[in-house]
Amino acid sequence: MSHTVKVGVSLKQQYNIRVERNIAQAFRDFCAARYSPQQAILVIDEKVRRLHGDMIESLCEEYFQHITLCTVPEGEQSKSLEQWQQLLDKILTGGVERSTPLVAVGGGVTGDLAGYVAASALRGIPLIHIPTSLLAMVDSSIGGKTGINHAAGKNLIGAFYQPDAVFSGVDFLATLEQKEWITGLAEILKYGAIRNPNLFERLEKLTDRPLKPSDEWMEVVAESAGIKADIVQEDTLEAGKRAYLNFGHTFGHALEKVAGYGALSHGEAVFVGMIAAVHFSKNMGYPVDDIRFDPFLSLYKQQIRSLPTDINALIEAMKTDKKVKDNTIRLVLLKKWGSPYIQPCQDIAKLKETWKYTLSQFTK
Ligand code: NAD
Repeated sequence: MSHTVKVGVSLKQQYNIRVERNIAQAFRDFCAARYSPQQAILVIDEKVRRLHGDMIESLCEEYFQHITLCTVPEGEQSKSLEQWQQLLDKILTGGVERSTPLVAVGGGVTGDLAGYVAASALRGIPLIHIPTSLLAMVDSSIGGKTGINHAAGKNLIGAFYQPDAVFSGVDFLATLEQKEWITGLAEILKYGAIRNPNLFERLEKLTDRPLKPSDEWMEVVAESAGIKADIVQEDTLEAGKRAYLNFGHTFGHALEKVAGYGALSHGEAVFVGMIAAVHFSKNMGYPVDDIRFDPFLSLYKQQIRSLPTDINALIEAMKTDKKVKDNTIRLVLLKKWGSPYIQPCQDIAKLKETWKYTLSQFTK
């Protein structure tokens, strides 16, 4: 005889993303309504602490009586097992309880690392994201992906773990370096391409002047966060539509890999990759043209030092992308602006032509 016990597991957890110029009031109110004032854990990017630490620490101290403060060295190398363990050592010996919230403050690196720490400590403690880079505000803080890197590859260890809330304070961007704006911009352009093409015109105006926080940027961040939230809530565990978020990324990842990790920023690679994806879509006969990226081309050209030129190596790298299925490259292409679809691709000649065209856009 056998028995089947059914377990209903609900993934229908909801949380709010607050996008403000300054998040202080919203954060204070949320904590007071949600948590005991006893204690909190603050995990903060080292550089962000230098620039904004006083404000953030005093904001936390206004409500919480005890803060365990953990600083994360700036940079991708912090998404490591060693950092994860160091944070857990400090937290687990510091009297953490299942209800102690962890507040993650910084860019995507701190958010991914601290999110995975929150997922792991005591099998999960409450998590709040305070993203401070443009990329983290529009992308990494939303959707619940947390994790660290392994020698075998990026983001290979991790968990889907949703925060209780996200507080995006656009005024934090006042100290963000230009190259980090450009990285975040690529992801916003991606949302323009796959969901809301009117973002292109708005971004064109915003990038025509010095990059600094404004109400218009706040609107664009809120709109982008809304698009990402929409897509991930339709596909929390990345089984279908979430793949659209990889628009430009299959080409981009190949560039990052062939250039050698770190030589190109992720945003630079994604921007180039989107030009390739639009060109490929146009070659498939769809009414799109990469001319739409022209207003942003010079920003990226100024910043990109060099692009790989070995087209065969780029195609080989595309074949090893982790999104490859049944040995077939799966491209996210556009049927028209705002309408992505997945195209399995085995047409190497077309890929070659696409790379040739795309790379030429950056040499003329
Ligand atoms: P990052 O966290 O390294 O931040 C970039 C730089 O900006 C760092 O030097 C940081 O110190 C600095 N910085 C952050 N906020 C600042 C501020 N307000 N003023 C001045 N400097 C500031 O990188 P990122 O671009 O934010 O994120 C990249 C990471 O995000 C990658 O590890 C990537 O894998 C991950 N990511 C995750 C997801 C996800 O869904 N979880 C999505 C996209 C990217």
